Amino acid sequence: MLSISDLAVSIEGKEILKGVDLKIGKGEVHVLMGPNGSGKSTLAQVVAGAPQFKVQSSKFKFENKDLTKLTPDKRAKLGIFLGFQNPVEISGVSVFNFLRRAKQSVAGPVISIPPASARSRRSSKLDKKSIGLLRAVGSPSSDATRNLSMFRQELLEYASFLKLGEDFLRRAVNEGFSGGEKKRNEILQMMALSPKLVILDEIDSGLDVDGLKLVAKAIKQFRLNDTGSSLILITHYARILKYIKPDFVHVMVEGKIVKSGKMNLAKEIEEKGYRLWQTV
Ligand code: ADP
Ligand code: MG
Repeated sequence: MLSISDLAVSIEGKEILKGVDLKIGKGEVHVLMGPNGSGKSTLAQVVAGAPQFKVQSSKFKFENKDLTKLTPDKRAKLGIFLGFQNPVEISGVSVFNFLRRAKQSVAGPVISIPPASARSRRSSKLDKKSIGLLRAVGSPSSDATRNLSMFRQELLEYASFLKLGEDFLRRAVNEGFSGGEKKRNEILQMMALSPKLVILDEIDSGLDVDGLKLVAKAIKQFRLNDTGSSLILITHYARILKYIKPDFVHVMVEGKIVKSGKMNLAKEIEEKGYRLWQTV
């Protein structure tokens, strides 16, 4: 699904990533760990298409399409989603309008009046609990037209699952949100947009135990519904891995992936830290 070879990234002449190789297969869960400043967020942002970085790679592909020249919106349309480590405030834009625009730009129009066929098809799904609750609004290829009120209804259900208050959709994006609300808002976006590749950058930091459990449950449920979606979890702590089992664990130090392994690598890191690979 995602295939990266020999990726070098710099910003303002400073080299941050120094030859990263990474392959993510369909449906796989990868965990990326590493000390502060090792380049994890940079890698995530470069995959999502952040324009400030200078990128060189012999191969940088998503589903066999070359990502190098694609703008972030085109990558989102292909199904790449990044949940930010530090989500930004967007004053004057409500969560609902933000999500509506985002959904529209990745999957086509969300409009006020639906065709009757779409209406009957969707409404039956809305009654189901839990699994139905988390069912994606529709993959990019499914419904070309989404009804505004149904879209709102589904978002309300996701918000309720995430224990976000009834007025949440009306609030300005991230403005005055607690740390936990910001993280859950990233998960809400993931659920609404139904991406194929989900990258979550330190989704677990700033969450208390209950918040972590809730977010982990939402991620698991999303993956059950959107089978085939792949996940890259960037984290400092093995604690989220109690709930979400990774297929692969990678360690990034000083701009390189220095070791890849399975779950036991995360356990090893929790015990011993990154000393083994650090030069300073
Ligand atoms: P991590 O997520 O692993 O903590 P980051 O990718 O955030 O690491 O940062 C890697 C390095 O790149 C750090 O030394 C950081 O200071 C530097 N860096 C990241 N973004 C910028 C930027 N916009 N301008 C200058 N340096 C940056
Ligand atoms: Mg980071």
